[in-house]
Amino acid sequence: MDPHPLPLGHDLGMKPFEAVQYFFDEAADILELSESARQLLSIPKRELRVELPLRRDDGTLSVLIGYRVQHDNSRGPYKGGLRFHPSADLDEVRALASLMTWKTAVVDVPFGGAKGGIEVDTATLSRAELQRLTRLYTRAIADVIGPTTDIPAPDMATNAQVMAWIVDEYSQMVGHAPGVVTGKPIELGGSPGRNEATGTGCIVCLDQAVAHAGMKRERTTVAIQGFGNVGSWAAREAQERNYVVVAASDVGGAVYCRGGLDIDQLIEHSDATGSITGAPGVDSITNEELVALDVDVLIPAAVAGVINPSNVDTVRASIIVEGANAPVTPRADAALASGGVTIIPDILANAGGVTVSYFEWVQNIQRFRWSRQRVMGELESMLTSSYRLVRSRADKHDVPLRAAAFVVGIDRVHEASKLRGIL
Ligand code: NAD
Repeated sequence: MDPHPLPLGHDLGMKPFEAVQYFFDEAADILELSESARQLLSIPKRELRVELPLRRDDGTLSVLIGYRVQHDNSRGPYKGGLRFHPSADLDEVRALASLMTWKTAVVDVPFGGAKGGIEVDTATLSRAELQRLTRLYTRAIADVIGPTTDIPAPDMATNAQVMAWIVDEYSQMVGHAPGVVTGKPIELGGSPGRNEATGTGCIVCLDQAVAHAGMKRERTTVAIQGFGNVGSWAAREAQERNYVVVAASDVGGAVYCRGGLDIDQLIEHSDATGSITGAPGVDSITNEELVALDVDVLIPAAVAGVINPSNVDTVRASIIVEGANAPVTPRADAALASGGVTIIPDILANAGGVTVSYFEWVQNIQRFRWSRQRVMGELESMLTSSYRLVRSRADKHDVPLRAAAFVVGIDRVHEASKLRGIL
């Protein structure tokens, strides 16, 4: 199904929000949504742009720009990560906020969708500068966030420490408020299992796809692009469940071992040197070669747009698990789908993070800590049932998993908007 045909090269120039809208429109056509419903569900509710005057360690001033886009809150408070990345402009943050609206709805957690970003390369900041920048941003957006309004979480180049600084800065303004963010350190009200949730969720979904295809885990080879929070935990979980992880990469390059990588050793090497490249007993390859490897499963878990018209013909995997947000562009998506490749879309595959963020938020409200076993058990069961629902919608409409996931998500948000009397 390809309701909005585009020339093959088009999506190389497509902006991130336009790409998300392309997938939105596919599903809106299936649901036969009215024009007013499409507008209501597409346009973000609020977009905030803030100036961040950062005093550098050497006394000079750098003026940075930050964003918070709140896309939809008809199903609950806005929810979405915060990324520090040079590409985090308004259009990218808007696209990611929209994806969050559909993601929270696909896994049926009671949140809406939002995203935050600061256009910055954290490699250029000292730890003290990073903390000052985080605090500046928190003050700048404090009026629009809060435990029942909008709850940020970690994303690219942000982590539990960054969340801890946000809790501290926000609590100085309004009183103790650990529920203002998720992905906090456990000592400050974080949840066991949150760190590993997104990567683990990818593998929970992969298990379903592998079983559906009649494949055996121990004979299934996997390549993972990106070895940060999502990629490294996906690698660990895949190895734990007996998949053969033959390749992994980070921004510095990729490593390959035909018989399977030793993931613990790779993590040790990465922790010690800052990169997985140069680890002992592995071959070095490029990130492009990793995408083109003869493997069963490819997990892009780094940045957007890495599988696009320029390299889609090189992909040999039969299953793609989107650990990253928007790693496959619309034209590449159509080409892969017509070639019979199963793509587990971002709004399902990487929803483990927001699912455990929901558990963390619930624990903060309850003032009660769940065990790791309970968190991981609930995660497995919620993602498995979400996958099966999406699979059944795909069969019903005879469409790929991505279109089916958008149908599930949009349908739920549409219904909530109708019940509230907005539509
Ligand atoms: P991270 O900053 O922890 O890790 C990013 C990894 O990607 C690093 O290993 C980095 O070296 C690598 N990388 C960066 N640019 C690359 C490139 N051009 N080629 C190859 N590798 C590259 O970030 P993360 O939290 O793991 O997030 C990764 C992706 O997953 C993002 O798209 C993010 O939006 C998405 N995501 C993250 C979460 C979460 O809970 N952290 C949840 C849902 C989705």
